[in-house]
Amino acid sequence: MIENEELIEKKNRKRRKYKSMKIWLGAMVAVSAILLTVCVVAGISILNMNGKIDDLTEEVSQTKNQLQTVQLTADELSAKLQILSTERDSLKQERENLAAANAQLTQELETLKNDLSGSGESIEDLQKQIAEKDKTISNLNSKIKTLNNNISKLESQINDLKAQISGEEPEDNPQEEVQNPEDTGKYAYLTFDDGISNATNDILDILKKYDVKATFFVNFAYKKITGYKEIYQRIIDEGHTLGNHTNTHDFDSVYGSIESFEKEVTSIHNSIKELTGYEMTLFRFPGGSNASYVRKLGTAPHELIHDLGYEYYDWNIDSGDTSPKNDPDGDGHNVPKDVLVRNVLNGATSNTAIILVHDLGYRYKRTTVEALPEIIEGLIDKGYTLKALDESVTPIQFTKDPTH
Ligand SMILES: [Zn+2]
Repeated sequence: MIENEELIEKKNRKRRKYKSMKIWLGAMVAVSAILLTVCVVAGISILNMNGKIDDLTEEVSQTKNQLQTVQLTADELSAKLQILSTERDSLKQERENLAAANAQLTQELETLKNDLSGSGESIEDLQKQIAEKDKTISNLNSKIKTLNNNISKLESQINDLKAQISGEEPEDNPQEEVQNPEDTGKYAYLTFDDGISNATNDILDILKKYDVKATFFVNFAYKKITGYKEIYQRIIDEGHTLGNHTNTHDFDSVYGSIESFEKEVTSIHNSIKELTGYEMTLFRFPGGSNASYVRKLGTAPHELIHDLGYEYYDWNIDSGDTSPKNDPDGDGHNVPKDVLVRNVLNGATSNTAIILVHDLGYRYKRTTVEALPEIIEGLIDKGYTLKALDESVTPIQFTKDPTH
C-alpha cells in the first residue's frame, strides 16, 4: 500500500512537474510570440524610420545647400557693399579735393585781381606809351616815304640838268624803277562788320582766291559758332586784321554808360587775346562814331578808346547791305547783289576807300558774299590795291567830319 502511495505520489509529482513545465513552455511560447511580434513591429517601424531619416537627411542637405546659397549671396552682397562704400568714400574725397582746388583757384583769382587793380594804371600807361610809340613809328615811316619820293624827284632833276649840260638825252626816270608798278597810291579797305558767321570761311576763301587782304570788325558774345577759334585764327594767319566791334553789339549795353562801354571793349579784347594771342588795336563803333547813342555819352567813349590803345575807324563807302531803302523787300536783308556792287564801285572815287560790308551769315547777308567777287574785281579794275587796315592808315572818323 505504502508502495502504491509512494508510486501515486511519484506519479503525481511527475504530473505536477509536467504541468508546470507545460505552463512554462506555454509562457515561453507566448513570450516568444510577443517578442517576435514586437520585433516585427519594431523592424517595420525602423524601416519606416529609416525612410523618414533618409527624407530628413535629404531635407537637411537641401536646407544646407539653400543656406549655403543664401550665405554666398550674402557674401557677394557684402562684398559689393564694400566696393560701393569704398567708391563712395573715394568720390567724397575727390569732391573734397575739388572743393579745395576751387577754393584755392578762387583765392588765386582774387589775388590776381588785386594785383591787377594795383598795377592797372601802370599797364594802361604802358599801353598808352606803346600806342604813342606806334603812332610815332608810322609817322616816321610815312615821312621816310615822302623823303624817298623827294629824293627820286631830285635825282631825276639832276639827271635832266646833267643831260642839258652834256647835251645828251636824259636817262630814264629812276623813280619808275624804284616804285612798285602796281602801286597806284589808291587803297581800298574792305571792312566786314558784325562777324564772325557761317559765311566767314567762304569770305576768306574769296579773299584768298584774289590774294587780297581785308579787316574783320568782330563781336564775340554771340559768335561762338562751330569752330569759332579756328575761324578767328584763320583771319589772323591769312594776313587780315581783326578789329574790335564790342562784345555784344547791343546798343543798350554798349552805350548804356561809359563803364559798360569800357567793359564791352575790354572783354572781347581779352577773349580774343586768350583765344589766339592776338592784341586788337583797331576799333569800330557799332553804328559809327557819331551815332546818336554814342553822342549821349559825349566824347568820353572816343577818349577812352584812345586811352585803351585803340584807334577807331569809320567808313567812307557804305555797300548798303543793311539798308532797307535799297532793298525791294524793305527789310535790309539780302539786298540785291547788283545794288551792292554798284554802291561800292560808284562810291570809290578817292585814293583811300574804307568800305563797309557785313559778315552776318547766309540768312541775312547772303548777297554780300555773292557780290564780293565783282566788288573786288571792280576795285582792282579801278586801280585800287586791297589791303587790311592797320594803325599806319590815317583813320576816317565821322566825329572829325562836320558833314556827318
Ligand atoms: Zn555793326
